Amino acid sequence: MSLYRDEAVVLRTHKLGEADRIVTLLTRSHGRVRAVAKGVRRTRSRFGARVEPFMLIDVQLYTGRTLDVITQVETIGAYGQVIATDYPRYTAGTAMLETAERLTETEREPAVQQFLLLAGGLRTLAGGEHDPGLVLDAYLLRSLAVAGYAPSFTDCARCGAPGPHRGFAVAAGGSVCPACRPPGAAAPHPHTLDLLAALLTGDWAAADASEERRRREGSGLVAAYLQWHLERQVRSLRLVER
Ligand SMILES: [Zn+2]
Repeated sequence: MSLYRDEAVVLRTHKLGEADRIVTLLTRSHGRVRAVAKGVRRTRSRFGARVEPFMLIDVQLYTGRTLDVITQVETIGAYGQVIATDYPRYTAGTAMLETAERLTETEREPAVQQFLLLAGGLRTLAGGEHDPGLVLDAYLLRSLAVAGYAPSFTDCARCGAPGPHRGFAVAAGGSVCPACRPPGAAAPHPHTLDLLAALLTGDWAAADASEERRRREGSGLVAAYLQWHLERQVRSLRLVER
């Protein structure tokens, strides 16, 4: 038996027996880990509320034969309540957790950048300074970029011809010049592409000033782009009210 300690975001929990839970964590240094939290469903549990989805925790575990076992939990970011009790935040946050799990497919493979993006995204979502839909789209674009699928919103994704270009093709990797533009490419409004570029680079002043219809169009492009790369639909995206 060996003990280790790490920071983690709680991605998901499910019941195990009468009083226990299996908790899926995205940790800073150990990648995605599934662990048992014993006795957390008893009312007198020491750390029940700390191992809920969206929580950022400092956790101590020991390595078990099949699943690791959680022995200590301290709260770093108490995002659970504030996200779970607000519907727009909840649907955006759920899509973030689900995407993080999909982008860290192999358990215990370190994914520091994905952890930092998710922890930062949940903190922003809980803080309530920005529209939850924008927080979600910024997170999705950046986590896709970290996973190696950075979309282009200016230069042609195929030949590199300097943009901006009118065409946008998910399968090509984003903006496409007239020569590379495949049949069926979208033609989003230039301001929509500006918004997505702002979200990718973290330019919140520009993103917050965007129009509602550009946000809606941008969200559609991000969802299409994400689904293309994940190859199967992230279910919770359908719940997000656009
Ligand atoms: Zn081109």
